[in-house]
Amino acid sequence: MTADHTSAPSDHYEVVVVGAGIAGLNALAVASGYLGPHDRVLLVDRRHRVGGMWVDTYPYVRLHQPHPFFTAGDIPWTLGEGRAYLATKWEVLDHFSHCIAELRHRVRLDQWLETEYVGHEVVDGTVRVTCRGAEGRERVASAERFVKATSLEIMPNRPFPVSSEQVQSVTPESDVREGEIARSTAPVWIVGGGKTAMDTARAIITAQPGREVNMLAGSGTFFLERDRAFPTGHRRWWGGQRGYPYFRDWSMRFDGTNEREVMRWVSDHPSTISITPRPRDFLFGQLSRSEATTISAGLRQVVTDHLVDVVDEGGRPHLELRSGARRAIEPGSWLVNCSGHFFRGEQQPYAPYTSAGGRVATVTPRSTIALLASFSGYFITHLLMLGKLDELPLYEVDADTLGRRDRDAWACTVVAVHMHNLSVMIDALPRTVFARNGLDFEKWFPLHRQLLTSVQVMREHGALIEHTAAALDRVREVHGVRCGPLPELAAAR
Ligand SMILES: Cc1cc2nc3c(=O)[nH]c(=O)nc-3n(C[C@H](O)[C@H](O)[C@H](O)COP(=O)(O)OP(=O)(O)OC[C@H]3O[C@@H](n4cnc5c(N)ncnc54)[C@H](O)[C@@H]3O)c2cc1C
Repeated sequence: MTADHTSAPSDHYEVVVVGAGIAGLNALAVASGYLGPHDRVLLVDRRHRVGGMWVDTYPYVRLHQPHPFFTAGDIPWTLGEGRAYLATKWEVLDHFSHCIAELRHRVRLDQWLETEYVGHEVVDGTVRVTCRGAEGRERVASAERFVKATSLEIMPNRPFPVSSEQVQSVTPESDVREGEIARSTAPVWIVGGGKTAMDTARAIITAQPGREVNMLAGSGTFFLERDRAFPTGHRRWWGGQRGYPYFRDWSMRFDGTNEREVMRWVSDHPSTISITPRPRDFLFGQLSRSEATTISAGLRQVVTDHLVDVVDEGGRPHLELRSGARRAIEPGSWLVNCSGHFFRGEQQPYAPYTSAGGRVATVTPRSTIALLASFSGYFITHLLMLGKLDELPLYEVDADTLGRRDRDAWACTVVAVHMHNLSVMIDALPRTVFARNGLDFEKWFPLHRQLLTSVQVMREHGALIEHTAAALDRVREVHGVRCGPLPELAAAR
């Protein structure tokens, strides 16, 4: 990395955040709470606007959780819809803009958009962040503290490459409700069985009832049932499934080696739902019972197999599947690639979640400290601003490498890391940090149920820390991935 050591003093900030997705905006919101209206803060992103992956994701994507729980810090939405409403892509992007407007009231916020983060170094206790603008010019900002929230680097899928000349291979970004595909009546094959596949199936089925829509669902995916995680009406008072006991039980069952057995428990749990029998994949997506019913009723065929290619033979296109099976399909059929965004492409370089000295925090899947990047951005920035980032014995896991090797171990490990670190932070962070966490699903429930969760957390977090630490140490030994406290911090302690 090259640094411009002649950078102008006007490019000095209290905090620089790279990544204008939900993780970066949580970092900004939290940092602004420790700063005043004269403090300067910088947000850098390579995209042309704030919003992260939501900027480029397919147009009919909706939040899978009720919208109030997708925010920066505790900034309320201004949508005027009921609490259970699932915001659309454009509403999510508007909320990002609203959060930026709110943060401008708290601090002096600069934005360097269409700007690539190149690297950083800590020089005499100051962080120098080097970036490159769209025109190729190098820009350097110096900062007291730096949050790198480049996160998952999710980009849209490409059309599935096929040999056949008789099918049309597209992506969800081509808009199945309004694009060319919507003007055709030819059969559709959705490739994939996760959240994007469910959104795509629902969009076509509701826009064009009666059209032949099929799904090649891979190994099948199961989802958290939204109606149980966010019960409505009277059920909010006594029904549904609070998140804390669910994830506590999950972590306490996991011993670092028994991920198959634990994931069977997860998929058999009444809190999960699927449109395929015996689903294998789980990515923490949410689906409601009525969505599942609409999708199941509208799909002509659901095939649990993986697409390898589409080839023309005897004048007809055929799906070639991983199992070795072949299926003739209608000429002119559409193939929509919904085969997933995670654990693909090149890995980001590893960086620990904290630098020695605690001035640099990193949110990427190579050094995961919480289940969701938004949570990481929120908590890591509280620790950073309180000067506690390199003090606490948090566990980090290379979730990206583990997820590419073993999805069951990945799911159990990120839940255990999440529960471990939150339990450690309970004793180290002020209560207000938890009270003002707008991302926390527990806040869906009435106060008496939130109080019950608080009592359980206070009573159980010691045992959770001990159990999850032992399980996570075993993950490191069994899977040979980075999983544990940072050795240099442990040595300094
Ligand atoms: C199809 C789909 C639907 C989803 N739906 C939901 C949902 O409903 N609810 C939910 O909670 N989660 C959902 N997720 C998970 C989702 O990824 C997260 O919710 C979240 O929006 C990700 O935010 P992030 O900040 O972690 O990452 P991103 O949104 O990817 O933001 C990272 C930002 O960093 C920038 N960046 C990266 N590298 C650089 C660099 N070198 N220089 C400059 N900038 C850089 C990127 O441009 C990007 O803007 C969904 C994921 C997918 C793929």
